[in-house]
Formats: sequence, structure tokens, C-alpha cells
Amino acid sequence: MIVLSEDSQRTSGKDAQTMNISAGKAVAESVRTTLGPKGMDKMLVDSGGSVVVTNDGVTILKEMDIDHPAANMIVEVSETQEDEVGDGTTSAVVIAGELLDQAEELLDSDIHATTIAQGYRQAAEKAKEIVEEQAIDVSADDREKLLQIASTAMTGKGAEGAKDLLAELVVDAILAVQDDDGIDIENVNVEKVVGGSIDTSELIEGVVVGKERVHDNMPYGVEDAKIAVFDGALEVKETEIDAEVNVTDPSQLQEFLDQEEAQLQEMVDQLVDADVDVVFVGDGIDDMAQHYLAEAGIIAARRVKDSDLKAVARSTGARVISNLDDLTEDDLGFAGSVAQKDIGGDERLFVEDVEDAKSVTLVVRGGTEHVVDEVERAIEDSLGVVRATLEDGKVLPGGGAPETELALQLRDFADSVGGREQLAVEAFADALEVIPRTLAENAGLDSIDSLVELRSRHDGGEFGAGLDAYTGDVIDMEAEGVVEPLRVKTQAIESATEAAVMILRIDDVIAAGDLRASTDDDDDDMPAGGGMGGMGGMGGMGGMGGAM
Ligand code: ADP
Ligand code: MG
Repeated sequence: MIVLSEDSQRTSGKDAQTMNISAGKAVAESVRTTLGPKGMDKMLVDSGGSVVVTNDGVTILKEMDIDHPAANMIVEVSETQEDEVGDGTTSAVVIAGELLDQAEELLDSDIHATTIAQGYRQAAEKAKEIVEEQAIDVSADDREKLLQIASTAMTGKGAEGAKDLLAELVVDAILAVQDDDGIDIENVNVEKVVGGSIDTSELIEGVVVGKERVHDNMPYGVEDAKIAVFDGALEVKETEIDAEVNVTDPSQLQEFLDQEEAQLQEMVDQLVDADVDVVFVGDGIDDMAQHYLAEAGIIAARRVKDSDLKAVARSTGARVISNLDDLTEDDLGFAGSVAQKDIGGDERLFVEDVEDAKSVTLVVRGGTEHVVDEVERAIEDSLGVVRATLEDGKVLPGGGAPETELALQLRDFADSVGGREQLAVEAFADALEVIPRTLAENAGLDSIDSLVELRSRHDGGEFGAGLDAYTGDVIDMEAEGVVEPLRVKTQAIESATEAAVMILRIDDVIAAGDLRASTDDDDDDMPAGGGMGGMGGMGGMGGMGGAM
């Protein structure tokens, strides 16, 4: 009996598992070479030809346009990591891929997927306990540690060259926005300036709006400014339908124009009546309206980015209005100073001494657009880890130290588990070692030598022993200042395990329509082949066709 429509495709049992595991592994494989201080970057070109050069796991995966459902579950691991911590996106995905790889071997020796899932879950729980126990306490006023954490997150990224300065800026930014309610990272704005070198980046209290005032006759600055944030246009609305206005004599035309002017004047009057000093407008401002605003001595900026509108509103206490008719004084925000200043050859509007939320802007400079974009991503990771550290107060050494320690302790723990799940716990332990192994590989070291050395040092009780990717030596990472928040590891372990378990438990894939991965007319086709065909790091995926 056929219950599925003709177009749907079904893959069941072992084939489904193999297909999904391969898709998940392919995703992990694609970001593996970027891991660590010596990881390489990727260049991603979208269908419109725009280019992104990055080392950031979650950015790579988002840009890759992956459409295999199981592969997407792994992409989600990096997205969760990004949301929860901001850093560790590559590690999380690489661990998930390795958990799948290890599981594949267990499945081949006829261990049931449910058993593996149970073993993995137990191992993950235990792993979290172990790292929590081993974590080092950091107090909020230990600036030295915070700087180390901020800079570890930027290692190996475009920001590397100016990492010391940027770490200072990141720590200052987070400390500036921290209040009784905690740390809202949204209050740290990043303004990118192309031109100038990275080490002239700076931190400004307040918001920098990437626009100039719209008319030369407007004041350059104003103190004790009342600010309106208007997400609309100071223009006379164009009629929806193409209307043709027939004028029979010049006075009629004049009347028509006068009417438009009157409407614009009325809009500006609404701002004047509310006692506005500065208005940030999301859309355009008509020439005539610009003139009236200048006459009224109001500073105005047009086509202000949505994120800038929000930042101004948040920090000055203004309400974003979409209709001027609703404007009252209550909607206005306040800043001690709004002024136009030059930065990197561009004029921008600085909104400083803000009243409401503490808000700061990190002005990031770099030689080219691609450079500043990548520096911005590194800074975002760095902001995330400093916040996580202040919130949790716990850090771990980096360089593969915690993973090596976990592998060691989990192998011991496995003995106490017994049964077939023991094998899954052991597999989990092996999987975690993918981090030090990959750090070594990417640094051009012999990964076996490095692992052997790491294991023996941990066996000897050195919890903090990790791999110095620059020298190849195994050193005490904490002493070296390579530290990461505990949450980077616990979150990575949690999401990677959840995703791997979810994928393992699937034994039937029913797809309405064409699931690209299972086209059977092309032997060499592979899971998610469509979306990722152009990516590197997918070697070893050929031959998948045979399994389907
Ligand atoms: P992720 O997206 O997972 O954060 P990264 O490319 O940032 O990927 O690499 C993070 C890994 O690099 C972590 O395991 C971290 O401990 C390690 N790492 C960072 N700095 C160093 C260093 N100086 N020496 C060795 N390992 C480092
Ligand atoms: Mg990182």
C-alpha cells in the first residue's frame, strides 16, 4: 500500500542514519581548519558575488546556505553557541561532528542508537560536572584575567594584530554598560570605520550615528539636547497610484506646490512644537523640510540605520515613533551633547552624556571593509566571553586542556557505567580529543605526538596543560594567560551532544518533494551537496552515493 505522494522521498533504517551522520560530519569538516590560533580563514562568495572572509564558525555556516536537514541541526549548534556565549562556535560544531563520527563506528559494531544516545547523555552530564569542579574562580575586579579572556577570544582572528588594545576596549565597554540588571550587550554598539589602522580604534561613551547632519545650515552641535527618533520619512507621501495632475494655468501649479510645502512645514512644526533639538529619521527628508529644519535650528539626520535608531532610543530614553502626529514631549530622549565630529575622514553624529541606559560605542577601524568586518566579528566574540565571565565568575584554561582532562576522566568514569553504554562514554571521551588534535593539526604539528604529551601531563595531574599552538610545546595555559569562560565549554558540550543524539535517533527520513541529498540519478552526489558543493574541507565525502 502506498501512503506517500509520488514526489515524496523516503530513506529508512541504516541508510537514513548513514546519510544524516555524513551530512552532519560534512558540516563539521567544513569549519575544522579554522579552529584555533593557527586556523585558516575562509572566503565565502554568495550568489550576488559579495565576499566574506572569516575565521568565525557561525558566520561561515550561516553564509554557506546549507539545506540538508541533518546538516542544519549542526548549524543550529553554532547558532545556539553564538546566542548563549558568543564564542566557541567552531569548537561546538567540531565536537558534534566527532560525536557523530564515533557513533558511526559503534553503529557498525551493532550497538543500538538508543544505547549510544544514553551513553552520550551520561557522559555529557559527567563532563559538565568535571569542568565545573575544575573551573577557576575569577572576581569581577580581576582586570588582568578579563583582559586575558578578551584577548584569547580574538586569537587567530583578523583582530590579532591589535589584540591588546582591543581587549582593553572590550573590557572597558562591558564594564561601562554593566549595571544592577546585569550586562546588556546591546548597549555596546560597534561602529565600523574603513580607513586608519586597527590600533587607532577607540571607545566612546554614547552612541555614534553613522550619518552627517543633513543640511549645512544646521548647527554643528547642541548641548542638553532633546532628541526625537522618527522611523519614517519627512516627505510628502507619493500617491500609491500614478496620478496625473492636469494643470490648466500656472496658478494651479503654484497652488499644488504650495500645498506640498505647507504639509512639510506642518511636519517640521510638529517637531518644533515638541521642543525637539535633534531628530534622527529612518527614511528620507525632503529638501524643503531640510530647509525648514535648518531655519528652526534643529539638527537632523536622514536614512539612519535601524540599529542606530534603536541604539539612540535605548540610550537616550526616546521612543521610536512612526507617526509625527503622535509626537509628545514624553517620546523625546535626552543627551548632554549631540555633535558632529570627524572620524577617519568621515563626519558622524556623536550622541554623548546619555541619560537612560549607559551606552558605549566601540569605533573599530581597519584598512578595508573586509578587515573591519572580521575585526567586528572577533570583537563580538570577545564581548561575549567577557560578559559570560562576569556573569558566571568561572574560567577554564584553553588550548585543549579541558578536553584532554575530560577525555581522561571520562574514560575512568566509563568503567563505572558498564554495559554497552560504557562504549558510548568511551567514544564520547575520544570525541572530545578532537579539539586538541585539531589545534595541533592546524598549527602544523604532529597531532599524535601532541596528544601523547598532553595525556601524560594530565595523567600527572596538570589540569591546565594545553597546547601552545605557536611553539608546539605543552604548557600551563593559565600561566600563559590563555583562558576562556567555563560557559564556552559547558554550552558547547551540551549543544553538541543534543544535536548528535537527535541525529542518531532518526531512522526514517520522509521528505515531501526533493531532498537534495537523496537524488539517486547521480552516484557521486552527497548530502547537502547543492549548498556546499563549492566549499573546501569536504574531502572524503565522495562515495556517499553508494550508501543511499
Ligand atoms: P571557536 O569558534 O571554537 O572559538 P577558535 O578558532 O576561536 O574557535 O578557536 C578556539 C580554540 O583555540 C579554543 O580551544 C582555545 O582554547 C584555543 N586557543 C586560543 N588561543 C590559544 C593559544 N594562544 N594557544 C593555544 N590554543 C589557543
Ligand atoms: Mg573563538
